[in-house]
Amino acid sequence: MNDRLAGIKQEILNGIDQLAASRAAAFELRKQFLDSKTGKIGQLMKEMKNIAPEERAAFGKNINELKDWAQQKFSELDEKLKARELERRYESEKIDVTMPARETETGNLHPVTQIRNQLMDIFVGMGFEVAETREIENDYYNFEALNIPKDHPARDMQDTFYLSPEYLLATQTSGAQIHTMEKKKPPIKIVAAPGKVFRSDDDATHSPMFHQMEGLVVDERITMCDLKGMLELFAKKIFGEDTTTRLRPSYFPFTEPSVEVDVSCFSCGGKGCRLCKGTGWIELLGAGIVNRRVLENCGIDSEKYSGLAFGIGLDRAAMLKYGINNVKLLFESDLRVLRQINDN
Ligand SMILES: [Zn+2]
Repeated sequence: MNDRLAGIKQEILNGIDQLAASRAAAFELRKQFLDSKTGKIGQLMKEMKNIAPEERAAFGKNINELKDWAQQKFSELDEKLKARELERRYESEKIDVTMPARETETGNLHPVTQIRNQLMDIFVGMGFEVAETREIENDYYNFEALNIPKDHPARDMQDTFYLSPEYLLATQTSGAQIHTMEKKKPPIKIVAAPGKVFRSDDDATHSPMFHQMEGLVVDERITMCDLKGMLELFAKKIFGEDTTTRLRPSYFPFTEPSVEVDVSCFSCGGKGCRLCKGTGWIELLGAGIVNRRVLENCGIDSEKYSGLAFGIGLDRAAMLKYGINNVKLLFESDLRVLRQINDN
């Protein structure tokens, strides 16, 4: 009989060693031996009646001892497994605060958008309102009203993308001037954006789609002095306090007189370098006093009012400011290029 008790003891020890990998498995194992109805130790009690009466007391004592021993073993096992599970949980939840953080990518605005926002901030700061430009114009707004007659070279099929005999992709943002002057009476002070324009030009410094920002001021007694003063202030704000401007005579059909505006080279300070091709000056924009005929086309009294207008190439401004030598780089969506330009 005592052999059977020893056998059960060994079975429990083996079971603990081999089967009890989790608390659930340990619970099942415990049930096999200690369940009050089906457990192997309980079963032994039922055999009491087959034992000789004088041996019963000793047999009962041995079974109880085995039961106590087994309970003790299983509760030790449970404690051990509980501790191990806790340890495993801690291990899996452990955070190493010294580990480098996972990199999160943040985007930035396109260089042309950055320049446009900067310019708009400057002009809005000078009291300009923002007017919207259109990508599709008709012949009247893109040419006729701007004093560009039918035989003007700017109308050449090589420069303009026509959508139909009447409609075309805007070749300049100046149409916004006409739309504004038709709707508003002076005083007018607008910059036009977003300024997408199209011409069939395609080389290192020309893209078939590019961006302009157009400015228009119409009021009484507007003169070239206002234009020069305003653009000088603008140039200092965008390229630095030491920047100066100079005006060169030029020709645009919608302004008279017309000028090209150069800024002193912000790279060499005017001494001459590669950026300014040794001249010390960089061509920045075209401007002028609004042609009286353009005012009259919009029903504005050209005896009482005069205006100034300017147009700046945003792509060129972005290339100058960020040192980009090929306009294509702006529009190829190459993240290696675009990531480097973040001014905001
Ligand atoms: Zn220079």
